Amino acid sequence: MTAQRSDVLVLGGGVIGLACALYLLRVGRSVTVLEGKTIGSGSSHGNCGTITPSHLPLTAPGTVAKALKWMLKRDAPFYVRPTLDPTLLAWLLRFSARCNARDFAATTRVKTQLLLHSRTLLEALVRDENLQCEFDPSGTFYVYRDEVAFTQSQAEAALLREVGVTVQTLAGDEIRRREPALNTSIVGAHFHPGDARLRPNRYAAELARAVRACGGIIEEQASIQEFQVANEKIVNVKTSRGIFAGNEVVLALGAWSPQVGKQLGLRLPIQPGKGYSITYTRPQLAPVIPMVLKERGVCVTSWASGYRLGSTMEFSGYDRSLNRTRLAALARGAAEYLHEPVGPKIEEEWYGWRPMTYDDLPILGRAPGYRNLSLATGHGMLGVTLSAATGALIAELLSGVSPSLDLKPYAPTRF
Ligand SMILES: Cc1cc2nc3c(=O)[nH]c(=O)nc-3n(C[C@H](O)[C@H](O)[C@H](O)COP(=O)(O)OP(=O)(O)OC[C@H]3O[C@@H](n4cnc5c(N)ncnc54)[C@H](O)[C@@H]3O)c2cc1C
Repeated sequence: MTAQRSDVLVLGGGVIGLACALYLLRVGRSVTVLEGKTIGSGSSHGNCGTITPSHLPLTAPGTVAKALKWMLKRDAPFYVRPTLDPTLLAWLLRFSARCNARDFAATTRVKTQLLLHSRTLLEALVRDENLQCEFDPSGTFYVYRDEVAFTQSQAEAALLREVGVTVQTLAGDEIRRREPALNTSIVGAHFHPGDARLRPNRYAAELARAVRACGGIIEEQASIQEFQVANEKIVNVKTSRGIFAGNEVVLALGAWSPQVGKQLGLRLPIQPGKGYSITYTRPQLAPVIPMVLKERGVCVTSWASGYRLGSTMEFSGYDRSLNRTRLAALARGAAEYLHEPVGPKIEEEWYGWRPMTYDDLPILGRAPGYRNLSLATGHGMLGVTLSAATGALIAELLSGVSPSLDLKPYAPTRF
């Protein structure tokens, strides 16, 4: 069987693969995207859709203590299922080692730079490609009910300001005036005017539309099965829909990256960080601005077309169950903060696997041992936010121009 050939093969049709494809097409490359199911059906589907340079890394001092405390609490916002899986245990050990003040500050500095770059590029991409995805430069709120937690959060707000993120701190009555959906228990909030929101499934669909409009090919139901490698180059990729070849290959398989990477001899330290969401029709008193209900770790996003409660972080391997306890915790958490916490009708209950690296930084760059393979994966809790910068940086890398940001902190060789 002869291989179907394009200049670049992108493996994975989530927001990362699609953004890489679009930026590569814009610099004149021919591109085929190979997606095992349908585009945007992975983590890119039911996530919270917030665009958040304000989001600090998960590797904060204290995260491990919290995880240990919550290990027996099955509805905790951060949950590690007790396990003997050696890969997950090794990952958790490395993650714990990163949860110290020095590494956290260093990660925050580099990651925020990438997030801010992506925020700017994403708005321009939505405008230039006319992506109909309910993008709104709304800002986000982080909302608190607990005085002690709110007081402690001032240190995080100060760190964000230090790295260039605008944060406005509001007292309880001020925030309730701006956001009548919140109840009287709220003691304060931080507002991040530089954040934004979009409807993630529409964003993925619109990226795919733009890819096709630029002449890109998207092959769905094309599950990657095998690679033919010669002379440190991927010669072709065998899928369930035939054989494909490219001069360059970009691996953008989200949480599935380690499994496919293994076939190429790559050891990618990515674990699925499972999160849940419930999508409703809009309640009458839906919050105007997307918000994180901090003590419960619940993210609330409303769009003209719907309303979503989401989040929670669970390390339980590639577990496919829809855990009712954790889903119920979303609505229960929201009820503590909002007059009308849920919408009239449930449209979808969902889980997704965030591709989590143990240092909470994405993996971007040339893969070691290969002359034509690049990696664009490990975007963790922020793949939608980071999609535009990732696409732009991969296009720069493959064009041989010097990248607009130093790629060293994200190098696949750092592990
Ligand atoms: C509850 C929740 C809330 C979130 N909220 C936000 C948010 O507010 N803002 C934000 O920026 N990020 C958020 N995220 C994170 C974000 O969803 C991810 O970082 C992002 O979607 C990752 O995109 P991706 O393209 O790398 O992976 P995915 O979207 O998972 O795409 C990978 C693709 O690879 C395909 N694939 C897998 N194996 C194969 C194979 N063998 N052959 C071919 N194709 C294959 C899959 O079908 C899939 O489509 C959230 C995540 C969750 C779970």
